Amino acid sequence: MKKPYLDSMPDANGFFGKFGGAFIPPQLEKPFQDINEAYDKLSKSFEFLDELKKIRKHYQGRPTPITYCKNLSDFIGGGQIYLKREDLNHTGAHKLNHCMAEALLAKYLGKKKLIAETGAGQHGVALATAAAYFGLECEIHMGEVDIAKEHPNVVRMQILGAKVVPATHGLKTLKEAVDSAFDAYLKDTDNQLFAIGSVVGPHPFPKMVRDFQSVVGIEAKEQFFEMTGKLPDMVTACVGGGSNAMGIFSAFIEDSVKLYSVEPAGKGSNIGEHSASLTYGSEGVMHGFNSIMLKDSEGNPAPVHSIGSGIDYPSVGPEHAYLNSIGRTSIGLCSDDEAVDAFYKLSQHEGIIPALESAHAVAFAMKYAKENPKESILVNLSGRGDKDIDYIVENYPIPLKDI
Ligand SMILES: *Cc1c(COP(=O)(O)O)cnc(C)c1O
Repeated sequence: MKKPYLDSMPDANGFFGKFGGAFIPPQLEKPFQDINEAYDKLSKSFEFLDELKKIRKHYQGRPTPITYCKNLSDFIGGGQIYLKREDLNHTGAHKLNHCMAEALLAKYLGKKKLIAETGAGQHGVALATAAAYFGLECEIHMGEVDIAKEHPNVVRMQILGAKVVPATHGLKTLKEAVDSAFDAYLKDTDNQLFAIGSVVGPHPFPKMVRDFQSVVGIEAKEQFFEMTGKLPDMVTACVGGGSNAMGIFSAFIEDSVKLYSVEPAGKGSNIGEHSASLTYGSEGVMHGFNSIMLKDSEGNPAPVHSIGSGIDYPSVGPEHAYLNSIGRTSIGLCSDDEAVDAFYKLSQHEGIIPALESAHAVAFAMKYAKENPKESILVNLSGRGDKDIDYIVENYPIPLKDI
């Protein structure tokens, strides 16, 4: 009998087809193997799963609802748009789904400290929240350049009790933060847990984070069916590393539901103007896993851009590379300007201010709805847009509502 997809992927070595794996220095092999074995046990433990379920209900506020966007759908005059409301999670985005679970894992393993890197600071804030809840120490490594750019998130992490460590070498951004966090982790793998912020990194993280995010898809499938009596025709989400997308896609992989990963087309197709890894990238190893990545002329991770600071990543989770390579997922593109338009449209027609990352998925859903008037479309609204308000109003004039 054929195994269900989620049980058979990834394989025992963390491969989704040829993508994934664990390309790490020898000193890291043992600690990552230990995490893998521990997770394997805990993922079948009633006690662990029950505790996680309670945390999700009583602390995070799950289940998050599905909202039917009647006004926006009428305005477009095409297909029907629905939102899975991850913006209503505690802290305002989907990231807490895996951070709470990673922190719970740390607690079960007897670790005292969570350690991670962060780019724009969103993962750092979610992890600092989880650490506070579980009474764990938290150390977040962040490029010096990003620290200056993302001041509010740095302060948030500090208020939550985390220590923010600046990465001061090289370009002083995400890549250097990853190096710095790995170095710090290696100094004490017994008492610390490295907590990765998306479905990326060495095995078992792409699998673990997908499993932790799968609650989004499980809830959404049931809720959508209850609302409409059927499954959606299409499900879409924005993809940086790809955790919110894998979360919602995972429930629909074996159904005849179209899945669209929306990549940030930024402001152009030249290197440095976008971060559409699947669209423009090629196979390569980065941050400990094999996937499709954007490279510069020397084969190193290329500079990337997106107006959504959580989705400007030069690679993509290995499972996305795999699902795209076998044709199970399709790619949608959304430019900075289209994301801003969707940001304002969703705000003005539905009273929901989306994160700029999530606005990419909304923008693509709006285009798709116009072209597919008979379809119902479920968008994973990964986060709320409060964090983006200052940037948006300084750079894009508030439009008059067009009715
Ligand atoms: C971090 C973030 C993302 C991107 O992360 P994925 O792992 O690609 O899902 C998307 N939306 C919001 C609101 C985020 O904070």
